[in-house]
Amino acid sequence: MIKNLTHFTKQELEAGLANLGEKPFRAKQIWNWIYARGVKSFEEMTNISQEMRQKLSENFSLSRPEISKDLTSFDGTRKWLVKFEDGREVEVVYIPEETRGTLCISSQVGCTLACKFCHTGTQTWVRNLEFHEIIAQILLAKDLISDWDKKTRKLTNIVFMGMGEPFFNYENVAKAVKILNDVDGLDLSARKITISTSGLVPEILRCSKELKTNLAISLHATNDALRTDIMAINKKYPLAELLAACKIYNRENPQQKITFEYVMLAGKNDQEIHAQELIKLIKKFNLNVKINLIPFNPWNGCEYDRTALLQIQKFQKILKDADLISPIRKTRGDDVLAACGQLKSESEREKKYNRHP
Ligand code: SF4
Repeated sequence: MIKNLTHFTKQELEAGLANLGEKPFRAKQIWNWIYARGVKSFEEMTNISQEMRQKLSENFSLSRPEISKDLTSFDGTRKWLVKFEDGREVEVVYIPEETRGTLCISSQVGCTLACKFCHTGTQTWVRNLEFHEIIAQILLAKDLISDWDKKTRKLTNIVFMGMGEPFFNYENVAKAVKILNDVDGLDLSARKITISTSGLVPEILRCSKELKTNLAISLHATNDALRTDIMAINKKYPLAELLAACKIYNRENPQQKITFEYVMLAGKNDQEIHAQELIKLIKKFNLNVKINLIPFNPWNGCEYDRTALLQIQKFQKILKDADLISPIRKTRGDDVLAACGQLKSESEREKKYNRHP
């Protein structure tokens, strides 16, 4: 049976080629063709002997998953629906900006958590993605934006903020980060990668030592009662435990600010008292953080409304007066439901809501 070569880790590839009597540098060469140059056929691997290329194409493929939908927002944001071999789909969002390009990728099909503000959370968890399915989202995006020239790199940042809780799929996320970090491959440093979590304390601690990527916490509330109401995971890992883990993350990674994601929900978590509570928490744990204030993107069936801009600015001023960095995130791609908290695979959405193109 033909196997896909991207389903192997670098070590597995090295071992497999060694069994065929090949030298270790072969694996490095092939790896480089796949991840640094994006080739999709063995024929293109011109520094590899014809005989070897023939052998590879008889036994392996380099095929990518399918793109089942390709949408472009009026602001240039692109959203793709990626379909894997088993027919399951996830969404990937590319956000081009003047000086950088960010790709928001998924780690699970659906999500086990049902954070109340999150559209993805309404889609039941189906399965974790394999590491190569996580990487395939990046390879596909690079194909679609023609980004295989290292000198003019468009895709500069990766955020695990798509569908799913990345830390519930830690092993595959870790393998994907390793491929991203590999200088012979995608060559993206840990500082250009952000993992966003709802707050799984043991994995935050693991990540602080092992992966050393940027960390974003979906915080969204400033006391346990409110956070448990919005995000059930808070019952398991209440704020004191979560913030103590953040403190350790800061200590292990002193150059990095943790990002607190804070979606502004009208009348729920956007009042002056919440801003004050937030300041108190950050000072109490002496955290090195920045707070992203996110205008809520409404979706059908959600119980929350968007906080008025004036109120967000008032909230921001209180944080700024306490010397906390707190940008208001620009909403991107909301005409194609690619904005934060809106991701949900199209097929599922059509089935349930019957309202999108
Ligand atoms: S915010 Fe993240 S963890 Fe919560 S339901 Fe949405 S995808 Fe899942």
